[in-house]
Amino acid sequence: MIEEEKSLNFIEEVIEEDLRKGTHDGRVLTRFPPEPNGYLHIGHAKSICLNFGLSQKYNGLTNLRFDDTNPVTEDAEYVESIKRDIQWLGFQWAQELYTSDYFEILYQYAVDLIKKELAYVDDSTAEEIAASKGTPTEPGIPTPYRSRSVEENLMLFQQMREGKYRDGEKVLRAKIDLANPNMHLRDPLLYRIRHVHHHRTGDKWCIYPMYDFAHGQSDSIEKITHSICTLEFIPHRPLYDWCIEKLEIFPSKQYEFARLNMTYTVMSKRKLLQLVNEKFVESWDDPRMPTISGLRRRGYTAASIRNFCDKIGVQKRENMIDVSLLEFCIREDLNKTAWRRMVVLDPIKLVITNYPDGQVEELTGENNPEVEGGEGFRHIPFTKQLWIERDDFMEEPPKKFFRLGVGLSVRLKHAYIVECYDFVKDPEGKVIEIHCNYIPNSKSGEDTSGLKVKGTIHWVSVPHAKEAEVRLYDRLFHDENPVAAEDFKSSINPDSLQIISKAYIEPDLATAQAGKGYQFIRLGYFTLDTQSSPDHLVFNRTVTLKDSWAKEIKKG
Ligand code: ATP
Ligand code: MG
Repeated sequence: MIEEEKSLNFIEEVIEEDLRKGTHDGRVLTRFPPEPNGYLHIGHAKSICLNFGLSQKYNGLTNLRFDDTNPVTEDAEYVESIKRDIQWLGFQWAQELYTSDYFEILYQYAVDLIKKELAYVDDSTAEEIAASKGTPTEPGIPTPYRSRSVEENLMLFQQMREGKYRDGEKVLRAKIDLANPNMHLRDPLLYRIRHVHHHRTGDKWCIYPMYDFAHGQSDSIEKITHSICTLEFIPHRPLYDWCIEKLEIFPSKQYEFARLNMTYTVMSKRKLLQLVNEKFVESWDDPRMPTISGLRRRGYTAASIRNFCDKIGVQKRENMIDVSLLEFCIREDLNKTAWRRMVVLDPIKLVITNYPDGQVEELTGENNPEVEGGEGFRHIPFTKQLWIERDDFMEEPPKKFFRLGVGLSVRLKHAYIVECYDFVKDPEGKVIEIHCNYIPNSKSGEDTSGLKVKGTIHWVSVPHAKEAEVRLYDRLFHDENPVAAEDFKSSINPDSLQIISKAYIEPDLATAQAGKGYQFIRLGYFTLDTQSSPDHLVFNRTVTLKDSWAKEIKKG
């Protein structure tokens, strides 16, 4: 098969041009720079696939750099989860690095800027600084501290570091241009005072660099060739370049792409943290969360997420990706890899009256009919009493109902054709038992009955059935764009989790493997939950077999 040649995305074009020109000696070094203030989400997966994908394609490397300059919100738990998620996605970083490891160098860089008369200590309050910055159409005005001497600035900055001042009393600012139309160049903050404990540097520092001062310099220290970030950093790029130019350090370059936005999903870590803290979900890895750990627990495979990121591509403009594309990718993957099993979620008993009492037939079913050889077989016990799905029977079936009702026949998957002739109701009028006869010479694979039936249904033998809890998930939000609402939490779907506490599963599923996908025939794709144990099996529905939302839209 000829692979369709994909056109290059704009970052690949930049890299190929750099390789042609011999920039950086043909080296490609990217980085993925998460702030360890939450778990990674599917948006981060896009950035990971892009950064690691580029270095793989161009024979380069990718660093993992924890952007830990904001001690208040960061935590070591997040660091571990981030590493686990990147590796699970199938990528390995060249070096594990921390911006906090550069605090001393960054401090020296700030001293350099002061010596070059390009930075000054400002005693103004945050409000005073904001007020003196002007507006995009009006130039800012210098604060009284802008004209401090190099010596005074050096001394004050040193004292800031030594802890002589309280939070907010002083800041270090770059001295650039108070009239620049780009507000980021109007003497931006480089350092602020924060007397807080840092998860790595402890109490060593009480001044912390701002993102704009730390990020580009960290890229430069690592000699990153292509520093890729999202579009909101475009206006920061002149400052990124200014710092590198004035400090005369390695010329890393910043490139921006559109972040992933997805329908029915919120993506910011801050909002996801609210969902966890306010108990709308159980945890960061709740299977309804768009986090990588949530998707994994739900049954998404790394390959399906990589494939999704590949399909959405890399754009220069904001857009909104339909969540059904992600669902398409996991269906496509699981259809090829999931093992087929029979499970009854809403049981009703079917009795085959003409089948011998006490007889057990060991039928066989292919694990995976999508591949040659079926990846082996499992045994499925068949007996006189079976559980079937309640909605596979109707008391008064309409025309074209190809399942069970009095006078109707179906094939039991992997087994016989049965014909229903009667049913039993309890005193409340609920159907509790269905009576059928089976056709002895209609067994799957050796059917000589000559009968044709339109429907095939799944079943589980009553005496052999094991029990399991099954969790069915729906979208966490009602609105296509929940963040557009005043309060995104007002759009939460209260029915996003349905728990079936007692489903009947075929016996083989009692030894289901963690991390493996199973297709429960006719019901969807499922996987064992991380809370499952041999005495209390729990399955998560990863995704339905078909896009049920698309159907609802068509139905109107
Ligand atoms: P959030 O708002 O969710 O906290 P962030 O950008 O603050 O996101 P970081 O940990 O700083 O999160 O991001 C690490 C990297 O992942 C950055 O390079 C960032 O641009 C990228 N990234 C974050 N969210 C997305 C997204 N939705 N789509 C693509 N890339 C993203
Ligand atoms: Mg951030």
